[in-house]
Amino acid sequence: MLGRATLLAVMLATPAFATPPLSADQKGYLTANTIGIFYHELAHAIIDLYDIPIRVKEEDAADTFSVLLVDYGFDDASGESIANDIAFTFSVDGETSRHFFWDQHSSDGKRAENTICMFAGGDIDGRADLAEDWGMSTRKLEACEEERILADEFWAPFLDEMTNENKSKKHVKFSNQKLGKFPAAKVYTAAVQDEVREINIWLRLPKPLSVRVESCGEANAYYDPEEISIVMCTEYAEYLVKQVE
Ligand SMILES: [Zn+2]
Repeated sequence: MLGRATLLAVMLATPAFATPPLSADQKGYLTANTIGIFYHELAHAIIDLYDIPIRVKEEDAADTFSVLLVDYGFDDASGESIANDIAFTFSVDGETSRHFFWDQHSSDGKRAENTICMFAGGDIDGRADLAEDWGMSTRKLEACEEERILADEFWAPFLDEMTNENKSKKHVKFSNQKLGKFPAAKVYTAAVQDEVREINIWLRLPKPLSVRVESCGEANAYYDPEEISIVMCTEYAEYLVKQVE
């Protein structure tokens, strides 16, 4: 049996108590993917609350909407880096066959391709290198331009409708569970909070949406239509940083 002093020393030496700080690459990658998955869940909320008629699989529409928000909200270089990191996560998920919450989604390879297609399709000259890095042919890239135009046209009237004229009213409420000093959870929480702040500047919703960052016991993120809430599980942050070790 361990004495109290020895037990304390063992506890202090366990990884949970000595989580190393994140590298700059890990932080960037985690933030990019947090934005991507948050926008994806936000798309589910918007589709539900505005009853948007989706003619494709809702999961694919949510992926596309997520890329559009990245492209509309960030400068070119940041947007490209975020799109690239999101696609990379899908490709890693595909390789390791880790389907946490992707049951309804297209295959991960297809999701990576769709992400790059939608982003590069927004500027096929300026983003030709990105498309080439992902093995996309010129012909495919031209088809992506067409797909992107259709996506922009589809979402434009809804985005108009969603624009908040009453700037003082916030439609999205953020909350988070206190989780101590875990670096990944901290970066993840801050990224979600930043995005909620950003979208509250422009987004109007028919009903208030709550966004919660909390531990759920699994690497997941989901929209709950009963509660009208998005839950972003901190376990997902831990999963993401492991991809950049
Ligand atoms: Zn989804």
